[in-house]
Amino acid sequence: MKVFNTLSRQKEEFVPLQEGKVSMYVCGPTVYNLIHIGNARPMIVFDTARRYMEHKGYEVNFVSNFTDVDDKIIKKANEEGVDASVISERYIEECRKDMKALNVKEATTHPKATEEIGGMIEMIQTLIDKGHAYVAQDGTVYYKTRSFKDYGKLSHKNLDDLRSGGRSLLVSGEDQKQDPLDFVLWKPKKEGEPYWESPWCEGRPGWHIECSVMSKKYLGDEIDIHAGGEDLIFPHHENEIAQSEAANGKEFAKYWLHNGFLNIDNKKMSKSEGNFFTVRDISEKYDLQVLRFFMLSAHYRSPLNFSADLMEAAKNGLDRIVTSVANLNYLLESAADGDMTKEEEELCNEAKEFIVKFDEAMDDDFNTADAISAIFELVKFANTNASSASSKAFVQALKDEITALSDICGLIVDKKEEMLDAEIEALIQERQEARKAKNFARADEIRDTLAAQGILLEDTREGVKWKRA
Ligand code: AMP
Ligand code: ZN
Repeated sequence: MKVFNTLSRQKEEFVPLQEGKVSMYVCGPTVYNLIHIGNARPMIVFDTARRYMEHKGYEVNFVSNFTDVDDKIIKKANEEGVDASVISERYIEECRKDMKALNVKEATTHPKATEEIGGMIEMIQTLIDKGHAYVAQDGTVYYKTRSFKDYGKLSHKNLDDLRSGGRSLLVSGEDQKQDPLDFVLWKPKKEGEPYWESPWCEGRPGWHIECSVMSKKYLGDEIDIHAGGEDLIFPHHENEIAQSEAANGKEFAKYWLHNGFLNIDNKKMSKSEGNFFTVRDISEKYDLQVLRFFMLSAHYRSPLNFSADLMEAAKNGLDRIVTSVANLNYLLESAADGDMTKEEEELCNEAKEFIVKFDEAMDDDFNTADAISAIFELVKFANTNASSASSKAFVQALKDEITALSDICGLIVDKKEEMLDAEIEALIQERQEARKAKNFARADEIRDTLAAQGILLEDTREGVKWKRA
């Protein structure tokens, strides 16, 4: 398997630190709002990479954080007059629902920054002790960028160039920096902000230190893969490398993977321009499987344009696979029991070619676009060769292959496995009873379970109505 490593700007053979195991850290969202479809891109593409590596037999330890202390969270909390944790907890819950609806697997560990402050203080102290950080008069702790000789190795930036353009890096209130390139590890509290005790001042951590610390705690000093959107290369990931490698004295991550940006109608996504969609917005119009399919129809490193037409095309593409599987399910009901004929066995061997193509595409830096083409070829093959005269074993084999490849991409194409109407009705009934008994927690839980399955509930005068999204 080859992966494109931002460090070397080349595709490299993937060799894990420990045979058969992969440690992987993906920078997660800052939780101050519902996630937007740009945030969904790294979630979907790196979940697919994980699924493929698991399919290849690797045991993947997958860590992805929630950034739950940040200026934007604090601003929103002050606007609503609530604690910052009310905002972050609310949007962590919402984010989890979206991830579930996108069929993104639960991370092995999903740490929150605010629960890891002790580790951050420890790493900052180590950096001070080793001469890589200093405490300014106001208690701010800065990382001394020029103390780390490899600074710039990930983003391929030259320190002198950065420094000459450094004026723009100076943020007001950070005038006690020794060098414009130095960055904050710990900053003093301001009025109305959450804060923690530390040896330097009551305050809170800078953003970059949280990932260095959570990655170390849950995956160790050296990890295989660190990933996120390409906007994170500089300064976030560059700074993470500077912190971790200076503190631990080891290479932080072997492979750095970055996804390209998602644009809308060929423009940068922007709230003020009105071209901005949350995952929730999209779920009102489409099954979120369509959004997942859309994201995977391009290579993860390419920029990706989102438009209504392209979503329609994705919907049609996914429908082709779903319809083929539904047709195979239909054939299975009436197909004759018994073994495959010789001819069917040969056809099955022929179909292996598409599986090989799928694997080759995924082995080539997770080329999901080509991998999906291979699924389409298999679908076409199944549509041509399975008929009411086929044996059950043959139809089942074709169906199993299509669903297995789709599953590696996190695509659910066998609608038979989805919740049946009767199960939905039973849950709605249980929810009504829970509400009557004032067990609102259970009632909400059922609503969420149904929402994750794409079932929308509507309370009407005639009772609860439901529909599939
Ligand atoms: P943030 O909450 O801004 O830190 O973003 C969380 C993740 O989403 C990071 O990996 C970002 O790089 C990624 N991301 C944000 N916007 C986009 C976008 N428009 N396209 C692709 N990835 C994005
Ligand atoms: Zn990070």
